[in-house]
Amino acid sequence: MPFPAFENQKEHPLTKIMEKHFRVFATCDIGEAINLLRERGYEVEVYPHPEAPPKSFIIEKVRSGIDGLITTLRDQIDAEIFEAGKGHLKVVAQYAVGFDNINRGDANRYKIPFTNTADVLTEATAEFAFFMMGELARRMWTAEHLTRENNWGYWHPYLPFLGDEVTGKTVAVIGTGRIGLAFIKKCVGFDMNILCYDPAYQNHEFVKSIQEMLDLRHARGLVKERPWIKYVSFEDAVRQADFVSVHVPLLRKGESDTPTYHLFNEHTLGDMKSTAYLINTSRGPVIDEAALARALRENWIAGAALDVYEKEPLPPDSPLRDPVIADRCRLMPHFASAARITRLSPDPDRGMAGRCVQGLRDVLEGHCGGDVTKMPYVVNKEAFAR
Ligand code: NAD
Repeated sequence: MPFPAFENQKEHPLTKIMEKHFRVFATCDIGEAINLLRERGYEVEVYPHPEAPPKSFIIEKVRSGIDGLITTLRDQIDAEIFEAGKGHLKVVAQYAVGFDNINRGDANRYKIPFTNTADVLTEATAEFAFFMMGELARRMWTAEHLTRENNWGYWHPYLPFLGDEVTGKTVAVIGTGRIGLAFIKKCVGFDMNILCYDPAYQNHEFVKSIQEMLDLRHARGLVKERPWIKYVSFEDAVRQADFVSVHVPLLRKGESDTPTYHLFNEHTLGDMKSTAYLINTSRGPVIDEAALARALRENWIAGAALDVYEKEPLPPDSPLRDPVIADRCRLMPHFASAARITRLSPDPDRGMAGRCVQGLRDVLEGHCGGDVTKMPYVVNKEAFAR
């Protein structure tokens, strides 16, 4: 009896919702969380193929009169989609924290709220970036190939190659939002010095707490040198770091005073130490890939590990696939949040699937008194401010 106070079934909140009979189209299968909607009387159609539906297909589905659209980073959501949904589309629920595939200006013009799945993928993404840093610097991929291809002929002090330690090194964290801060917490255990850069959000309280933890480790004799953390300029972060880990949203020119599109280009890559490594789990276009391939080929930097690309999936002719740089360029398939609970848990406090469904329900079922600006997972609240 979930609602014992409602003896009259007509008054039962679930009955009211079911009377509305919302229709939803999901551009990908997000697992059992979809059943939470079906159990509430929603009619949900899920695109059955693993690849993204063509945009024309999404437009057709939206035009058919759906109330809600579940999308992910592969779907271009803009005025064409919102126009097709005129009069009936009420929400776009994005299964990702990044939403650069959604044209925010268009959503605002059409007054369509869109939601994202922030927070629940923070730790998974941060730890993946951390592991990529070690995988790259300790050359684990190259080392395993040596064993698998029967080229491990002897143990030797420095042949056929050596890697670099992560412990005690200096890391620059570009973007100190949710994932950047979670990444910093993981660096503490490796006694790293931490350079932070973020032009829009600086969490000095957090930095103070981390310094206190680093000081305690030093005071208790757990680490010889006292590690430190501080905010610095972008130039100082990039120039001084042994590792640079990128945690920014993709912001193109005109979308921000400090856009992130091609933040790493020939100029800024040229500023990095020749012994430094670059790790990117944010969005591909934050790095100019042609410039990065050149920087790796010409040894401007020691290596790069990427999870995201200017074009995904990574095209067969990408310069990043050049065999000459294979030993210093790790290429992951946009995989940083790809952990079981993170991706699929129907619990909105644990999984992207649960949070995506909750964001959709908040809008359609008029939670928070129907005030979109109070709904926690709606991104474009500015369009609804009175
Ligand atoms: P967030 O909004 O909490 O943090 C982003 C931070 O970047 C903010 O503090 C912002 O002020 C800062 N920033 C903006 N412009 C900047 C600039 N020019 N230079 C430096 N910092 C800048 O977002 P988050 O939850 O930490 O996620 C960050 C991004 O990571 C997402 O937007 C998404 O694109 C990406 N992401 C990728 C994966 C993956 O699977 N690879 C998973 C999750 C998130």
